Amino acid sequence: MQTWKMVCRHTVLLLGLVFFTNCATTTLQSDNTLGRLVVGFDIDDTILYSEDNFLAVPPNPADPAHLDYAWINSHDSVYSKVITDMAKVVHFFRAQGHAVYFITARPGVNGDYLARFLTRELEFPVVVNDNLFFSPKERDPETGIRHTVKHRLIRKLGIHLFYGDSDTDIVAALVGGAHPVRVVRDPKSLHAYSRNHFGDIISEPSAGNPFTVEDYKKFILTGVGPYGETIFPIYDFERPLPGFESD
Ligand SMILES: [Mg+2]
Repeated sequence: MQTWKMVCRHTVLLLGLVFFTNCATTTLQSDNTLGRLVVGFDIDDTILYSEDNFLAVPPNPADPAHLDYAWINSHDSVYSKVITDMAKVVHFFRAQGHAVYFITARPGVNGDYLARFLTRELEFPVVVNDNLFFSPKERDPETGIRHTVKHRLIRKLGIHLFYGDSDTDIVAALVGGAHPVRVVRDPKSLHAYSRNHFGDIISEPSAGNPFTVEDYKKFILTGVGPYGETIFPIYDFERPLPGFESD
């Protein structure tokens, strides 16, 4: 009888040990993820200096109120330049085995032209709906305000880090769960697009655009933007920024 009790006790202990070991092993083995980042990049004023492309677009007779993106997407090879410091960042992540995606708010018409241009300039395959996505803004039916929807792709692709120049890029990153990095625009682009960059630093101050050029300077120098985003100043500070010419 005594022997039988000992056998039972040992069996229970053994089963408990096996159960505990299995649980521990399962816990350790269940996480097969690697420390591989998924990094997203906006296109205009982030990967491409495309100001000249947008300035060259002819009037759109079919829809005079809107830019002809069929023309724009097919003329980057003529007018746009890759921002070399950002191309280095793209290659830096890829060389370390991280994944890279591009998300632009341009409409996707003739998007294959842009993909071919990026493929040629960056020297790796860029393919529409594979690693290049077109994600135009959508209008809120109640307020009429056009909002970014890039966050949907940011979330779907599992992007951890998102680089962009516009307020909407930063908003999309935050809503989509990625860390936002603000690529500081070329000063020439900043003049052309006063709005949608740190709010608006050029128009008269208002609730929607409270930031001045001095605020802009503080944001850049401290490396944190108004949304709490990281500032990535790729341009040479020797080159005067708007409002800093006398510094
Ligand atoms: Mg942009």
